[in-house]
Amino acid sequence: MPKQFERRVVHGILVRLAQEVAARYSGWDAGVTLRLGGTTRSRTASSDQAAGDFERRQVRLREGPSLTAFSTGQFVRVDDLAGDQRYPRLAAASLGGAAAAFSFPLRHGETCLGALTLTRDVPCQLDEQMRSAVQALADVAAAHLLSATARRRALAVSDGYRESSLHDALTGLPNRLLLQQRLEHAARRAQRSHCAVAVLFADLDRFKSVNDTYGHAVGDELLVAVAERLEALVRPGDTLARVSGDEFVVLCEDFADPDDVERLAVRIGDCFTAPFLAGGILLHCTASVGIAYSGPGESVTDQLVVDADMAMYQAKKQGGAVHKVIDLRDAQDVHDRTRLEQDLHGAASRGELALWYQPIVRSRDGLVTGVEALLRWTHPVSGPVPALVAVGVAERNGLIGEIGAWVLEQGCRDRALWLAAHPERPLSLSVNVSALQLMGLGFAADVRDVLAATGMDPAALVLEVTEGVFIEDADRALGVLDDLKALGVALALDDFGTGYCSLGYLRRFPVDVVKIDQGFIADIGRDPAGVAIVGAVTTLAHALGMRVTAEGIETEQQRAEVDSIGCESSQGFLFARPMTGDDLVVHLGRAPGRPLLLPPERAHV
Ligand code: C2E
Ligand code: MG
Ligand code: MG
Repeated sequence: MPKQFERRVVHGILVRLAQEVAARYSGWDAGVTLRLGGTTRSRTASSDQAAGDFERRQVRLREGPSLTAFSTGQFVRVDDLAGDQRYPRLAAASLGGAAAAFSFPLRHGETCLGALTLTRDVPCQLDEQMRSAVQALADVAAAHLLSATARRRALAVSDGYRESSLHDALTGLPNRLLLQQRLEHAARRAQRSHCAVAVLFADLDRFKSVNDTYGHAVGDELLVAVAERLEALVRPGDTLARVSGDEFVVLCEDFADPDDVERLAVRIGDCFTAPFLAGGILLHCTASVGIAYSGPGESVTDQLVVDADMAMYQAKKQGGAVHKVIDLRDAQDVHDRTRLEQDLHGAASRGELALWYQPIVRSRDGLVTGVEALLRWTHPVSGPVPALVAVGVAERNGLIGEIGAWVLEQGCRDRALWLAAHPERPLSLSVNVSALQLMGLGFAADVRDVLAATGMDPAALVLEVTEGVFIEDADRALGVLDDLKALGVALALDDFGTGYCSLGYLRRFPVDVVKIDQGFIADIGRDPAGVAIVGAVTTLAHALGMRVTAEGIETEQQRAEVDSIGCESSQGFLFARPMTGDDLVVHLGRAPGRPLLLPPERAHV
């Protein structure tokens, strides 16, 4: 298995090199030979039959530019093979075929692994520009080959495919330990030479259901197939590791510009477009990718992997099949992540957490019909922490259950106060529930207890979930949502459109309200497709019996459009920014139907 695996990887690299060169330079053929164990064994790939024959002929005759390039590590030119004194037997055997040949060593440092040969059917010369471009391609391929064969050698130690302490037994990729070593190395290099480092964290969506449905053997084959595709994407010098189950990490060093890394993330996403063959079954599979960077000269630590993981998690929450970036340079301005993780413990009991409320209004006239509770954490040193960061930290350090429970209970208690002040305005209360929280043990029972303890009317409670909850274990999510519906609470699908799920897929989940993500609303007035998309989602949601809320309404034009499209409810800065519970009571005392003109939310951006 490891041998076959390595053979496939090596063959893939050779074929790609030959094809890439032939595709770039029309009129030229390319053949490449990898020498194994000196010159006795070899492996060949070529852009076409003739180039392959030319390579094999040299091996058979034991003469030719490819062999010279391999043995000397130098570029070899043969402008006119027929008139060349060095390779008479090859010239005779090639009559009518290749007339000119140029061989490039596949070398990496001191090691020469083989040679790439370009041939043409007329005598000719090679200009310097083409020569250096082709040599660069050969160097890249050599680095790939070296890492593939070095891995194989590392695995072979102590018959140690399974025992290898630095490589993953299933895919042969570097494991977490080796990734750790490479990170340390990258950290030293980054410090020395002021270069940037990026980490991409890729996690397969719904891998668990593949295992559950088809069994672990098929799951394993899928992982190997994914590893192979990913491997074809990373550049030499980058490290692709499998760090656990269905999690892969790419460590990129020395990239010119973050766009390169984003492009790699897009290519990783794209490589999942075609189905994978595993266990004789064609499997469609997607991945969520998170990226974290450290800029030139900034310190590189394991935290980069944690951050990329966190970004991946955000991508997954949006429904998967996307990538997200966490830029450490932004994040570090705000806080020290590790400290935040520790400081969140006990934040509620120290009074650092608060809930702010943003009105949800009837689109037609701005009448406030409900509010969404939004978490606010004021760190004693760093100040306000953005909600998404606080929630991400809570999800990472296992506090989301506790904090989510606090949010739910506090929200229900606050609502009881407004209701007492304005019994004529029974507002609905929307509470965000993270996927991790929803899937935690006993979530529905906890909700039932809070309803009982606070006297909250279940029909006035809306729990907002994102598409992420359907990604990992849709059946279990469905079970929990059914339990919640049985309590009489309503369910909203938050940030709809940012993820992967279609409304058609979601019809089997008992969702009452679809909240169209603010990204689509922002397109209204900017991009003609914006109105069309919001219209299509609304029509479909209505056909499925769901109500629609438009998020992020900032302009009168957006309000008018979503109203005429038929979105029942709206939420956004045009009507009101999130505000404290006290401000809300003041607001409720004003005439309904008028957009609020409260000062902007200052403390929490
Ligand atoms: P969300 O649930 O989609 O909440 C709406 C977010 O959009 C809020 O950001 C709100 O301030 C912002 N927003 C509302 N209207 C506008 C507008 O017109 N323009 C713009 N640009 N933004 C608008 P916030 O409070 O920073 O919350 C961000 C996200 O954090 C929330 O997105 C939600 O996913 C999460 N979150 C907040 N509180 C909680 C919580 O208690 N639990 C959980 N699990 N997640 C929470
Ligand atoms: Mg929400
Ligand atoms: Mg939202």
